Amino acid sequence: MNVRDIGEFGLIARFTSRVAKGAGVEVGIGDDAAATKPAEGALLLSTSDMLVEGIHFDLDTCDPVTLGRKSLSVNLSDIAAMGGEPRHFLLSMAIPPSVSVEFLDDFMYGMLGRAEQFEVSLIGGDTCASSGGLVISITVIGEQFPEKIIRRSGARPGDIICVTGTLGDSALGLEMLKAGERGGPATQKHLDPFPRVREGMALADARIPSAMIDISDGLLADLGHILECSASGARVEWDKIPLSPFFLEKCGPFSDHTMSLALAGGEDYELLFTAPPSRKNEIFQLFASLDTPVAVVGEVTAGSKLSLLAADGGEYDIVKRGFNHFS
Ligand code: ADP
Ligand code: MG
Repeated sequence: MNVRDIGEFGLIARFTSRVAKGAGVEVGIGDDAAATKPAEGALLLSTSDMLVEGIHFDLDTCDPVTLGRKSLSVNLSDIAAMGGEPRHFLLSMAIPPSVSVEFLDDFMYGMLGRAEQFEVSLIGGDTCASSGGLVISITVIGEQFPEKIIRRSGARPGDIICVTGTLGDSALGLEMLKAGERGGPATQKHLDPFPRVREGMALADARIPSAMIDISDGLLADLGHILECSASGARVEWDKIPLSPFFLEKCGPFSDHTMSLALAGGEDYELLFTAPPSRKNEIFQLFASLDTPVAVVGEVTAGSKLSLLAADGGEYDIVKRGFNHFS
């Protein structure tokens, strides 16, 4: 079925008939604006991310269910990186005539499934036709008490640097997809990342991190943001970077290619945070209770230099390369 057959309002009705009014929603979909109520004393956290066909995804390599899930996940990851609780979201789409209603049904199924997992409710959006590709823009609204919000600017010399999960899998997965390979954990991680919302909130509740960010552009680029905002430097040890067995088997431990995927690959959506070294045991206990891997990969230093150390203490010459949308 073509979108033109049911029209903009038909499409909105089709999407939104499946949406239950979530907690904290006074006025949901169907009015000119939604009205929501944060917890007493909490601040609102607002974030937007846009996914553009041909830039962020390719309709040949992703299915609509997973694309719907990923579109919301990457936004949830930004709320996680503030230590916030995601509550509501708005969905705006520009839809080309080539996209079918069945595709959009599946897309919504994936997205609303993830929304349910994190108890986030759809409260509005905008729908229009596109003369180019499919464009998806999501705004997530979360909340957190001011004293628990974790910013990029709080890292201090002597703090340890921690990352969740493993790095590089998503970038490897993207390479594999481009080479026509499907299936396996790396392509899975690229197409279907799972946002670290529970981990972010648990860290915030325990007031552990001094600074935090989600890794969307690669460890070096995103650590670079923390260091810049915190006016600090860092020492990162390459042999402490967590790599998955699949990644190691596919890439081998010591090539330039391996390092560039793991350190500058992007789209891992893991959390990168700094914390006083005195909190180290607590961090390991907390992540054991969440059943999420965590690794200490280095230390914040005075100054502004970011250095990458080899196992023998030598230093790698790092090209600070993140993924640049305009390169
Ligand atoms: P307006 O012309 O006032 O912008 P619309 O006709 O665009 O209103 O939207 C009607 C209602 O449907 C609004 O509440 C809007 O938030 C909601 N809406 C529109 N598109 C979407 C969408 N893609 N997902 C969820 N809600 C939507
Ligand atoms: Mg509108």
